[in-house]
Amino acid sequence: AFSGHKNWQRTWRDASPKDRYDVVIIGGGGHGLATAWFLASEYGIRNVAVLEKGWIGSGNAGRNTTIIRSNYGLPGNTGFYELSMKLWERMEQDLNYNTMVSQRGVINLYHSDAQRDAYARRGNTMRINGIDAELLDLAAVKKMMPFLNFDNARFPVQGGLLQRRGGTARHDAVVWGYAHAASALGVDIIQNCEVTGFGRDANGKVTGVETSRGTIGAGKVGMAVAGSSSRVAAMAGLRLPIESHVLQAFVSEAIKPLIPNVMTFGAGHFYVSQSDKGGLVFGGDIDGYNSYAQRGNMPVMEDVCEGGMALMPMIGRVRLLRQWGGIMDMSMDGSPIIDKTPVDGLYLNAGWCYGGFKATPGSGLVFAHLLARDELHKEAARFRLDRFRRGAVIDEKGVGAQPN
Ligand code: FAD
Repeated sequence: AFSGHKNWQRTWRDASPKDRYDVVIIGGGGHGLATAWFLASEYGIRNVAVLEKGWIGSGNAGRNTTIIRSNYGLPGNTGFYELSMKLWERMEQDLNYNTMVSQRGVINLYHSDAQRDAYARRGNTMRINGIDAELLDLAAVKKMMPFLNFDNARFPVQGGLLQRRGGTARHDAVVWGYAHAASALGVDIIQNCEVTGFGRDANGKVTGVETSRGTIGAGKVGMAVAGSSSRVAAMAGLRLPIESHVLQAFVSEAIKPLIPNVMTFGAGHFYVSQSDKGGLVFGGDIDGYNSYAQRGNMPVMEDVCEGGMALMPMIGRVRLLRQWGGIMDMSMDGSPIIDKTPVDGLYLNAGWCYGGFKATPGSGLVFAHLLARDELHKEAARFRLDRFRRGAVIDEKGVGAQPN
């Protein structure tokens, strides 16, 4: 501001499409950009383009509630999300960019003996796998968050499962950081470039993409389009085990520092953290019908606010400032798909449900590995496209698809 906003340098090059790339990534969200960065930095593949139909971060990457954690309990997810957590912990150094990673802790509150037992089990699984987890009793939760409604609640808080290394990261900065670092290594980031079809050779192999900015040739094409996965896959004749639903988020007016961590309500759908500006950032369940509209509806807003009021009645007088929605790529078991598709040369990264922000660095690394080596990364070996047909699902909906 002191310079009158003059002489700012571009954070990344706004590239125009070349005729051909070794790898084309469709989707300039967190996953697409992270994949491009890992391709360039880890695998030495720099003739790469990221094609984004709008502006980078205009999808879920810029719409989420910024929560990161690795408190998963099923084989397949546990190792993958911890890989991602470790990459968050070094992201700012790796990218030389301030992504405001804040390990303020994530606590899942429990409200019944059965829920406590389930959380104890999940916490034990995490600890066996070298991931931090602490089961807190009521006294410990009261000390940490004395402002919760402990006295007259319909679902009294009994304790919580805490992951201290969990927390938040600034979502826009994550997008800009990956774009900045990937662009510096030669990756072309091409905005306002919508993919409208696939080029195929006589054997059906993908040879490139048709876009709103012309035909672009590609050795391999990776899809990382989150809520648009079914639509883009359909252009290649594929039907995915994915449904698209809206998830809404909400921000209140700024209040003084209140909530020290990220907190989830175990008896309903509500989760909350407080932004550095002071706003309460919160959300809840997905809208109950399929949609590609990036906006929500009033009944879900009311339901989410009721969850917040049940935990913290004193926020009832705080005014809601903003609300928005993003399109979730809901897989049938709550876990992602990172795999080759039956179409030669076309690779899929999808099925993140409500939880793909925390996966951003891990997803980028394992997808880049698949694209570069044509083999599955060991921490993503179970995220197969055909697992629904084989019955090898990773059914972690209650955790994996938990809204945050
Ligand atoms: P996106 O940012 O959606 O990227 C996909 C991109 O593809 C978009 O930019 C889109 O414009 C582009 N695209 C689509 N079609 C085409 C096309 N034909 N051609 C070119 N480009 C195309 N996850 C968490 O872990 N923690 C949270 O707290 C959390 N909260 C959330 C709250 C909300 C309200 C929402 C909406 C999501 C939340 N998520 C959360 C989920 C997380 O944001 C997503 O799972 C994740 O961002 C998806 O990956 P992405 O960033 O690559 O997706």
